[in-house]
Amino acid sequence: MAKYERDESYVELDHVEVDGVDISGHWNRMYQPREITAFTPEKIEELAALSGAESIAYCYQCAKCVGVCPVDAAGGDYGPRKIYRRLQTGLNIFDSPDLWKCTTCQNCVRVCPKGVDMVQIMPAARERSVLDGKVPPELQEMFEHVAEYGNPMGESPRKRERWIKQAGVEVPILAKTKAPVDILWFVGDFYAYHKRGQDAAGAMARVFSRLGIDFGILGKDERSDGDSQRLAGEPGLFESVAEHNIQEFQKYEFNRIVVSGPHALNAIKTQYPKLGGQFEVEHYTQLLAPKLDALGPLLTKSFDRKVTFHDPCYLGRHHGEYDAPRKLLTAVPGLQLTEMFRCKEQGYCCGGGGGGMWLDGFMADQVSERLSEKRVREAVEVGAEVLAVCCPYEVSRFEDAVKSTGNDGALEVLDIIEILDGCME
Ligand code: SF4
Ligand code: SF4
Repeated sequence: MAKYERDESYVELDHVEVDGVDISGHWNRMYQPREITAFTPEKIEELAALSGAESIAYCYQCAKCVGVCPVDAAGGDYGPRKIYRRLQTGLNIFDSPDLWKCTTCQNCVRVCPKGVDMVQIMPAARERSVLDGKVPPELQEMFEHVAEYGNPMGESPRKRERWIKQAGVEVPILAKTKAPVDILWFVGDFYAYHKRGQDAAGAMARVFSRLGIDFGILGKDERSDGDSQRLAGEPGLFESVAEHNIQEFQKYEFNRIVVSGPHALNAIKTQYPKLGGQFEVEHYTQLLAPKLDALGPLLTKSFDRKVTFHDPCYLGRHHGEYDAPRKLLTAVPGLQLTEMFRCKEQGYCCGGGGGGMWLDGFMADQVSERLSEKRVREAVEVGAEVLAVCCPYEVSRFEDAVKSTGNDGALEVLDIIEILDGCME
């Protein structure tokens, strides 16, 4: 197969002036029309043959996707159009770093007129590489932790309940209370194990308690929601943790599940039904926003700071929820909400989706700056003092990025639930 090469033959005039504007030399350079004939369909056909990856073949190279791809914007030279073209010129995607760069943020899917769906294509391609043992080591380690311990940190399941001691309120564990509840709160790995997540988990328990919400948790019987493992190419691992969680859910009586994070929302809403687990599920901001009549009077302390909000890809673009977090933030007395240029439907990505949470080392060689660093700069540019988030991946990602961009002390990263809790007596 011949590799495509640009035809460098051109015509240019030494001296040209048009309407008083000098366009001499290379300014009037005219190339011969290009005929792109040197390509092969084989690599595209090979990828499109995988179940879920069919739509890669629909691309007609319009390039709408590249301008919205957060990886490309961070210097990652990426986007479905580029992948398609590289496949045409012989790229073996299964051996390429390009396989792991996509965060499944869905921004290209939003704008693609041909329905090229990277959120399906990349997990299908990754599955094949995972089966062949071609996985970045940090991702492989995460898979092993989830398989062995049920969480990506490799922590003991028993430690899942440790955060409760610092919450200062009663947190009912369903296996102990055995009583029906209105809300089964799916706490999630980062709220349960990560130091800053535990701060948010405590805040959530206190807010639920003050609002008189009737809730319970699975505690040590909870496992990872599995969505990041599925999107990173391990659907078998996803199924094993998802089936475990479904069995646990089915042991108890409750009206709906409330999740701390958008990735659990996506898993339980869109994937668990395929495994026989049908549950009503919502994100915590969606539970609390309609309760502002009760919540508002509890917010007695003023939060006199300029705040900007980062839309999580899996709450916003994937599930269309842009209002609930903003309703909560604008209900906080004194809080001044300012939007970043990229927000809502075109919100930027923190880099943590689709397995990206465990690929920071790998990605460092692929981009000119981390996606989280770019986002922190955008928050600082609009004069924000606080970057508000509502995805458990984001607090740690953005706090690291605040440090690495030299914004320590200038920008604080807080979960919305921490802001609400801090404004209550
Ligand atoms: S927007 Fe869709 S059709 Fe256009 S280049 Fe990108 S993937 Fe191809
Ligand atoms: S899903 Fe997001 S990260 Fe992946 S290619 Fe599309 S825009 Fe880029």
